[in-house]
Amino acid sequence: MTAETTDPRAPLRIRHETRQRLLTVASVTDITPRMRRFTLTGDMAGFFSPGHADHIKAFFFPPGVEPKVVRIGPGGAEYAPGERPEMRDYTPRYWDVEAGTLVLDFVLHGDGPASTWAAGATIGSKLVIGGPRGSVVVPMAYDWYLLAGDETALPAIGRRIEELPAGARVLAVVEVEDAAEEQQFRTAAALELHYVHRNGRPAGTTTLVLDRLRSLDFPPGEAYAYIAGEVTMAQAVRAYLTEERAFPPDHIKAAGYWRLGVADAHEDH
Ligand SMILES: Cc1cc2nc3c(=O)[nH]c(=O)nc-3n(C[C@H](O)[C@H](O)[C@H](O)COP(=O)(O)OP(=O)(O)OC[C@H]3O[C@@H](n4cnc5c(N)ncnc54)[C@H](O)[C@@H]3O)c2cc1C
Repeated sequence: MTAETTDPRAPLRIRHETRQRLLTVASVTDITPRMRRFTLTGDMAGFFSPGHADHIKAFFFPPGVEPKVVRIGPGGAEYAPGERPEMRDYTPRYWDVEAGTLVLDFVLHGDGPASTWAAGATIGSKLVIGGPRGSVVVPMAYDWYLLAGDETALPAIGRRIEELPAGARVLAVVEVEDAAEEQQFRTAAALELHYVHRNGRPAGTTTLVLDRLRSLDFPPGEAYAYIAGEVTMAQAVRAYLTEERAFPPDHIKAAGYWRLGVADAHEDH
């Protein structure tokens, strides 16, 4: 593990040694109708995820190919031609190295290898994961923290809310389908959490997060903003914060977690 930083407010970037792990589903719980939680078990020795927005790669194999781990070479996971799995990013929601467990929350959005795996996986199903390769840790050096996104960001936003200490102030705006998709979090921080509902409109097509942000009084002082979800939404919120709320660009992380109509798309800004 190596870490480098100069400005005490700058997010700390940490690189990790990475390898793959073959994990087994130990439990499956629908925490809301569209969010399925998997507790996976296996060899978690050396697993480390200090950043709330860390991600692991999950590997989804072609039909008939048994999930297996391979060496990670300079060009990535070294699978044989024809055995190369699809890869998607997921947030380590909770983990316990000693107990050998990792918890991942999957949005059941209905299309693509990851959502399809989540819809069909049962106790005993296998999942190969790799990483996290790196972490970004935002220092406790800001007056308050802004979190915004859609349900794909709820694992990261939930982690952040739960991990912030007493004395921290956090404002969060999250777009979900409806009231049944709202998750509540325990935290020592002072939390103001707003859910906005699509109510039948397709995910990735609304301006609900932006509209709610426009209507809110922000707390005083300097904030760090973490935005994640559909690419166009994340970009629009980033532009709004810099252009209309005077956020310095380096006080914002806007992560495009997926792009409407495009498989395996993610972008950082
Ligand atoms: C750093 C990072 C962390 C992430 N953490 C999580 C997490 O913890 N939990 C989680 O559920 N997702 C998370 N995501 C988002 C997830 O990786 C994407 O949604 C991914 O595209 C899902 O793969 P798929 O195989 O299901 O669909 P793809 O094959 O990638 O896409 C198939 C189709 O589905 C659409 N689509 C993809 N995602 C959604 C969605 N959520 N709603 C509606 N349509 C969609 C695409 O636009 C495309 O048309 C994360 C993404 C990143 C970059």
